[in-house]
Amino acid sequence: MNRLGIDLGGTNVAAGIVNDAGEVLYRYSAKTDTKSERSVVGSLSKAVSSLLEMSGISADEISVGVACPGTVNSVRGVVEYSANLPLCGTDVAGMLSSETGVDVSRIYMANDADAAALGEYRAGAGRGAHDFLMITIGTGVGGGYISDGKILTGRNHSAGELGHTVIVYGGEPCGCGRRGCAEKYCSATALVRLTKAAVAECERRGVKTLMTEIAEADGKFSGRTAFRAADRGDEAGAAVVDEYISYLSCALTNYINIFQPEVLAVGGGVSNEGERLLEPLRNRIYGEMYNKRQPESFYTKICRAELGGNAGVVGAAMLGL
Ligand SMILES: [Zn+2]
Repeated sequence: MNRLGIDLGGTNVAAGIVNDAGEVLYRYSAKTDTKSERSVVGSLSKAVSSLLEMSGISADEISVGVACPGTVNSVRGVVEYSANLPLCGTDVAGMLSSETGVDVSRIYMANDADAAALGEYRAGAGRGAHDFLMITIGTGVGGGYISDGKILTGRNHSAGELGHTVIVYGGEPCGCGRRGCAEKYCSATALVRLTKAAVAECERRGVKTLMTEIAEADGKFSGRTAFRAADRGDEAGAAVVDEYISYLSCALTNYINIFQPEVLAVGGGVSNEGERLLEPLRNRIYGEMYNKRQPESFYTKICRAELGGNAGVVGAAMLGL
């Protein structure tokens, strides 16, 4: 069976036909039409029909997987709720089946962070692991946990919201209604907030920091500003990096204590820092986690995700496996 995966986002639809090794053979990308429920499903069927045409594969020779932000009932193929898309109780699988001619029994759905985790588990950083945890650091913090090939969904399809676990009690208010969520301290958005606060503090004290000139050269403050300043010996930049890593290690240590995965992969823009981020992160986590006195062979391997922006498409395509 050929496999087609679609990563449906609030801005873009990315899709592809993927082989069993996780390679994307044909690729499709377009803007999501977010006007209505119908237009979103229309964006999905356009991705399917374009890829079938490109590859010469027919609708009865393919399975389709859709990764979607929000609460996705993977059993019924229904998006229960999505904050970024006008889908609420929408029978996406049924509508997509009638528009494309792909039998509904071969249409699979999952939450986007879960699909990305499955992609890494099958074809990326989690290959060969029995238990695998993936954290994606972007505007928010997403997570997905796979054990023995199965995505942990909980009874209501909203398990694994790791970004909405509290690491600073009574801390920064979060969109979910709580305070001090990991997302408010570990996301790229949070790193930019910490960077700007440190620059403002330097200005108040009349201290120069390289973060200002790096942000000017880049045209904005970003997740890399403090890292680049720290690389060049800037003390305030190094303090921001240290503070950020202390928050992130607190969150990841909690996740390891709960799940004890064989492999934990970190994805998203911040993971581009590679060992610059991962080495100090491991040092802190391995010193704090519950099983620190066990032999090192029992430690969770902490590494960078491998599939980058393809994880969602690859994982969606693998949903039917
Ligand atoms: Zn939250």
